[in-house]
Amino acid sequence: MKNIKGLAMILASTSLTGIALAHDRQFDPVDLEAAVPEAQQILDEMEDDEKTILTWGLAMFPNMNSLFDESGKIEEPPEGAQWGAGFIRGIDRFSVPPLAETDGPLGVAYVRGIRGDYATAFPASVLLGATFNPQLAYESGQAMGAETRALGFGVLLAGGANLTRDPRNGRTFEYIAEDPLLTGLMVGGQVAGIQSQNVISTVKHFALNGQETGRNFVDVIIDDASARESDLLAFQIALEEGQPGAVMCAYNLVNGAKACGNDYLLNQVLKQDWQYPGFVMSDWGAVNSVDFAWSGLDQQSGAQIDPDVFLDETLFEAAAGNEARLARIDDMNRRVLTSIIATGLMDNPVARTMEIDYEANGLLSLEQARQGIVLLKNTNGALPLSANAQHIAVIGGHADFGVLSGGGSSQVHGEGGPALVIRHDPTGFGEAVSEQYHRSSPLEAIRSRVPETFVNYRDGRFITDAVMQAEKADVAIVFATQWMSEGFDQPDLSLPSGQDALIAAVAAANPNTIVVLETGGPVDMPWLDDVAAVLQAWYPGDHGGKAIAEILFGDVNPSGHLPLTFPKTVEQLPRPHIPGSDFIEPGFLARYEGSLSIDYGIEGSDIGYRWFARNEEEALFPFGFGMSYTDFSMANFSVFETGEGHYGAEFDIANSGERAGADVAQVYLVSVNGETKRRLVGFDRAELEVGESKSVTINFDPRILAEWTGENWEIAAGIYTFALSTDAETDVETATVSLPAQILTQTGEPTN
Ligand code: BGC
Repeated sequence: MKNIKGLAMILASTSLTGIALAHDRQFDPVDLEAAVPEAQQILDEMEDDEKTILTWGLAMFPNMNSLFDESGKIEEPPEGAQWGAGFIRGIDRFSVPPLAETDGPLGVAYVRGIRGDYATAFPASVLLGATFNPQLAYESGQAMGAETRALGFGVLLAGGANLTRDPRNGRTFEYIAEDPLLTGLMVGGQVAGIQSQNVISTVKHFALNGQETGRNFVDVIIDDASARESDLLAFQIALEEGQPGAVMCAYNLVNGAKACGNDYLLNQVLKQDWQYPGFVMSDWGAVNSVDFAWSGLDQQSGAQIDPDVFLDETLFEAAAGNEARLARIDDMNRRVLTSIIATGLMDNPVARTMEIDYEANGLLSLEQARQGIVLLKNTNGALPLSANAQHIAVIGGHADFGVLSGGGSSQVHGEGGPALVIRHDPTGFGEAVSEQYHRSSPLEAIRSRVPETFVNYRDGRFITDAVMQAEKADVAIVFATQWMSEGFDQPDLSLPSGQDALIAAVAAANPNTIVVLETGGPVDMPWLDDVAAVLQAWYPGDHGGKAIAEILFGDVNPSGHLPLTFPKTVEQLPRPHIPGSDFIEPGFLARYEGSLSIDYGIEGSDIGYRWFARNEEEALFPFGFGMSYTDFSMANFSVFETGEGHYGAEFDIANSGERAGADVAQVYLVSVNGETKRRLVGFDRAELEVGESKSVTINFDPRILAEWTGENWEIAAGIYTFALSTDAETDVETATVSLPAQILTQTGEPTN
């Protein structure tokens, strides 16, 4: 696991210098700023009654039907609306199109199947994070954007950019990582791809929406510097890279104010400091006053879920005689118009053509799974499996049906719908939130890969039966699942329903036991020492079964690396249990009479691997870890000034093994003036043929070297040590540079 070979192993051929990832913008996103003048022209012509059309919308969930009447303002869905997440009317006089919104970020969400269409079901975002491949995020974004339009929507509620402060968060699978740089670059790429198709993408949920328990009322307590150096930095990088037309504010409170009515988050940070020109839309059911508009909210989403429609004519009533508020109503409109114009929605209104290239987009879903599945353990060459195995026992995880997906608003139905739906109803939303398996059976994929081999299957409900099969087989493959969903958190990191006991029993019966984990995040592995191999498959999407089989048999060389720390025990986390989980009911809009707060000051900006480094704790599997069927070596690490006040690193990476493959090289800041730190400053996913080597250059985002001082990013003068690493706990080489004191702009440009 920590076997790094030195310079001697760098082999002959050298390809061109790798791409610089950090700081340089990766893609060519839409230009929001450039659309402001055209938005202003329309605004100049608008009457007051037209200025409250774009400022609020309806929820378009089927069972919200009755609520159309209750609001007293809308009797039936407006023309052109379809079931999805929401709908905002257009303004015909200026050819401003309506905004039909669908959920993401794993493709176009199914919304209880009521539209009767299907979309490509991409793997969980955490799997995308494990690819460390922003280009793939971009390309999958393009496909999602195209499907969004084809299904009649102009807005995809994608771009989950919250950091995983607690892996038990029920939405861990919807987010990329625990690290701000990785999250920002991946989400930025995804958003740029989506918006290249003339649709608006969000980034969400702004900000610090770290748990589902009490999500509507939990008050997150955090200081400015800790927030700016972690969760906010992830959003900031995603905004710079992707230029999303909209930011969706979160349900939770931050330092006493609801995120959607939070002057600090929306006015100060987002709009003033970051100069964001797009619009802020609320999460569904997150608004409770017209005053949210003065605190920076531009559009009230799903307004009939809130206690009232606040951002309609009420805005003018509340602004009467108040110039600042009237100007603010203009600003709200200018912002929504800016995003509609910049993304090209204005010139290319959406039509529901239903034309989806399932084959091409399915290949992208498959490619994500191939690159994001992580090999965690592989002893005695257990993997790849030999095609000559006579007898393989496949056990559990509904591998005969398909692969697991995460629940909640992000649920997508791949072509043909799910293969299996298991109702749990933990949130009172019925089938809409249930354990669903995409139609991509790993069992079938294994059988068709080795048609001559006897591959038998047991569902794993009876341990004795599973053990009997395992005893007779050459290899036992146990599929284990942990279903996560929006609406509730996981109480711990165990595999539910006795699966740990099943794995332990099978491993005792057959030393050649391979575990495939379909989980939304890390899980405990009490049986780890007794199994031969572990494959972390996450929720691998609608081609996941095929990808798993390809990796098991070595047709694809695993290359995913963990975007999250896998702890040895929950005791290593900043909080022993999720605050409120011992007394608050799960549910999307759960109410509670008391108060609930969560102290993110405990870890501050030291999330995940940074928390582990600070406490000198070792993980079960560290952030960045991932194995391959080949060997890589890295050497010649140096850190230097790349341009005025900018720094970067260079190193060589070689494939010194016997198969083509990809590795993810990581560079961390590891100490400043002798004080230990651990911050990812750059990474490179290198695809290398056997014997190939390449030289990689990484440019650091100066903000990652800096501290937020309350007004600026500042780099303190001193000695900075960096490490070239294979994961957050394994350094190959270090390099030290002396940096002068520097003050940076918001975007990280040195000013002196
Ligand atoms: C979720 C959002 C989603 C919205 C609309 C909310 O429950 O938090 O992520 O976009 O619903 O479905």
